[in-house]
Amino acid sequence: MKKPSPSWELYERLIARMISDQLSTDYCVTPNARISGRISGRKRQVDVLIDARHNTDNTRRIIVDAKKRLRRIDVTHVEAFRGLMEDVGATHGYLVSPAGYTKAAERRAQDEVSIRILPLDRLDEFDPSTWPKCANATCHSGRVFWDGYPEIELTLQSFSGNEHRRIPFVHYVGKCDRCGLFHVKCLSCGDLISLPEDKDDDYGHRCRCNLPWFWLASIEEDENGCRSAELHAVLGIGSIMTVDRRGL
Ligand SMILES: [Zn+2]
Ligand SMILES: [Zn+2]
Repeated sequence: MKKPSPSWELYERLIARMISDQLSTDYCVTPNARISGRISGRKRQVDVLIDARHNTDNTRRIIVDAKKRLRRIDVTHVEAFRGLMEDVGATHGYLVSPAGYTKAAERRAQDEVSIRILPLDRLDEFDPSTWPKCANATCHSGRVFWDGYPEIELTLQSFSGNEHRRIPFVHYVGKCDRCGLFHVKCLSCGDLISLPEDKDDDYGHRCRCNLPWFWLASIEEDENGCRSAELHAVLGIGSIMTVDRRGL
């Protein structure tokens, strides 16, 4: 009998999870992103995309490619990856491999590409089947990848007006690992809300807590014409916090 091949999709998700857990909250992580190539004009699949979280700013973009093979990375992989980086406007790239790399690959990587080794046995303790199912009815077996944990404070004033009490409300924000749909989970009431970014008649979503803020997704464009889907927490008039993004 043939040995079952490793689940490369799981390997990609493990890398996304590890990066998201270690990264500064100024950045957001998108697994399985689809980005318009500036040069090719085609949609390019990116295993893990890292962008600025809070602003429509794609100038600090980093991409990660999981090498789905049991042989070492060689120079041709590095060259193809550098082409992808250029096409999607990434300033830095990580190639992750379970099997190492050749000397020529290391030389071709130069300063723009970092090569990392992540052994396949790290998959043993990794189980994304516990992640929530995507709420999109047409999405096939997508799971929600949480990559941000925004806290919103509600300030309560006493009747005398002298005392303030601050109550923190914690949320998870993230996106589906297949269709990219944004999701928000409120830890106070447990509601799981999904938010499409491309509906013009969408005026926002609130959880059961019914507090004075709501969530809204939209599509934004930077000055170079680079588009992204963005998830916002609307806290009041003129007070909008961008809590997650996904390059398009
Ligand atoms: Zn989905
Ligand atoms: Zn709630």
